[in-house]
Amino acid sequence: MCKLSEKILSIEESATLAMARKSREMRESGKEIINLSLGEPDFNTPSFIKEAAKNAIDENYSKYTPVPGYKELLEVISHKFKRDNNIIYDPSQIVCSTGAKQSIAQLMMVLLNKDDEVILPAPYWVSYKQMIKLADGKPIVIDTNLDNDFKITASQLSNSITSKTKAFLFSSPCNPSGSVYSKYELEEIGNVLKKHKNITIISDEIYEHINFRNKHFSIGELESLKNQVVTVNGLSKGFAMTGWRLGYIGAPQKIANACIKMQGQITSATCSITQRAAITALKHDPIYPRKMCESFKLRRNLIVNELSKIEKIKINKPDGAFYVFPDVSNFFGSHYKNIKIKNSEDLSMFLLTNSGVATVSGNAFGNDNCIRISYAASEAEIIKACKLIKNSLERLA
Ligand code: PMP
Ligand code: GLU
Repeated sequence: MCKLSEKILSIEESATLAMARKSREMRESGKEIINLSLGEPDFNTPSFIKEAAKNAIDENYSKYTPVPGYKELLEVISHKFKRDNNIIYDPSQIVCSTGAKQSIAQLMMVLLNKDDEVILPAPYWVSYKQMIKLADGKPIVIDTNLDNDFKITASQLSNSITSKTKAFLFSSPCNPSGSVYSKYELEEIGNVLKKHKNITIISDEIYEHINFRNKHFSIGELESLKNQVVTVNGLSKGFAMTGWRLGYIGAPQKIANACIKMQGQITSATCSITQRAAITALKHDPIYPRKMCESFKLRRNLIVNELSKIEKIKINKPDGAFYVFPDVSNFFGSHYKNIKIKNSEDLSMFLLTNSGVATVSGNAFGNDNCIRISYAASEAEIIKACKLIKNSLERLA
């Protein structure tokens, strides 16, 4: 029997995808499951984007594309960065990939040597830590909690920097906490990092359009960080296009070139049809994402309201994305029949088996006191799920 690499054996399975698989299997076996585990919009891709894809098929966009993407797409993304984020990236500084997931994994591979450190505020998106490990790097985690809105301070960041720090990787709006760093907070973070020009800032802005408080602010907009910021984005969340697989970066030229070189050896490029559809999606003002954001805001209010009714759950009101990240540590040490709840994973499993609601345990995101609940679901499902969660939690003694 073949022996797998130490690398693959050392990383964990994606907890979000594992939970989605588990709930799919339970559903197939006839159980009624409300799946609030996976982070994907429940809306359909807008028709005008679907039309563009159909036309691309008919017009025979069926050949290999340039590795970073069609020239027209790179120009449209360059324009989008200027229009929406006030950042200048030349089309040559843009690389499209099969999702922001590949974009970030690729960045880790082109930036890190063995034991290079990447600073990661926790809670962080599940895949970041494993991607750093796959690239032989070392995640340096900064902890936060519900009381500080799951956000790091500039001094925490400053204290985590060493001579081995290669990158700072974060998402705002954040998956899983939904927290959004304000312009002022990003300026404070920028004031620390501008003194360390060898540190690359990787700003994952895939939830840019799902911001309930302010207009999105990109750290790459700060003049003092010029040539230090890689901005990551994609179509999955803003345009309900998770299955189409298009993510992109705007990056300092040297990093963009390295990603193109890497991508040329592993995937060539993302799908030609998706790229044509992306040109249409990104060309116009983001009216559709704004509409989706309004729905998510109503659902955010609903789920925070419903979960706040549960005694012992601690919850804040996140400003963006479509997740809540309640602290459930008050339930640790309690039982139901022969089930004992010791940590977030036990609690998330208990909710799946006892109430039929799929969530993701916080430990996968670097915070074992919490669980992640996605509210990219209908209002009826959210209300029902919260009732089921409440009933199950009341059984714990
Ligand atoms: N970053 C964050 C913070 C995410 O939540 C996701 C979710 N899929 C991704 C990146 C990857 O997105 P995709 O690969 O679908 O573009
Ligand atoms: N990003 C989404 C999530 O966090 C999709 C799943 C994944 O890509 O891991 O649930």
